[in-house]
Amino acid sequence: MAALHSSGSTTGYNWGEPVPDTNGGSDIVLWKHSDDSYKPYFSSTRTWDQIRERKAAVFWCKGVWFAQEVPRFSFIVWLAARNRLSTGDRMRAWGIQQACVLCGEPDETRDHILFACPYSFTVWDSLVNRLSGNMTDPDWLTTLQFVTANNLQILDKILLKMAFQTSIYHIWKERNERRHQTGFRTASQVMRIVDKAVRNRITPLRYTAGHKYVGLMQRWFEVTATS
Ligand SMILES: [Zn+2]
Repeated sequence: MAALHSSGSTTGYNWGEPVPDTNGGSDIVLWKHSDDSYKPYFSSTRTWDQIRERKAAVFWCKGVWFAQEVPRFSFIVWLAARNRLSTGDRMRAWGIQQACVLCGEPDETRDHILFACPYSFTVWDSLVNRLSGNMTDPDWLTTLQFVTANNLQILDKILLKMAFQTSIYHIWKERNERRHQTGFRTASQVMRIVDKAVRNRITPLRYTAGHKYVGLMQRWFEVTATS
């Protein structure tokens, strides 16, 4: 993306590039910032914009990436949304047979684990049934669409996204720990871990009075309180 630029050529020829002319001064290195903009400094953003392949934004973008996210949780959700988690159906290509370690279903797929699996659905449903207004659904696409766009009030929208990525992260972690025989938790234990992880994420946010997200923790307690 760097271009040599000969400054101030005065020759009469114009074949697109001016002929080098020592009277015009020394060549200097410029960075291409866009098709017709060259600057003496490097910009990773401008360079990335020029070399990356642009694609239309995916519908679930805002359900995965948002201000209150935990990046390592968002990453797992992103893999899930792209169906790139190493689930049994994808590992078959490498000769590995993998049933669902959470419930025993022989065909372990993304859609099974999120959230057709009775184990996963128990975690997800027990956490967000009230928050979602009874809209929990075992179907992956339905869930992803609902988490991304819904008519919930503003605090509930954020809490739903937080619960979504935290649940997926911890369900996938539990799946991996069972697979490698390094852990074995019940659905209600994972549910409590997710609940605590959501609270731990809310605590440091500290929105000041008047901010639209004030009351996030109180709202989380309201919708998860067991009566
Ligand atoms: Zn299962």
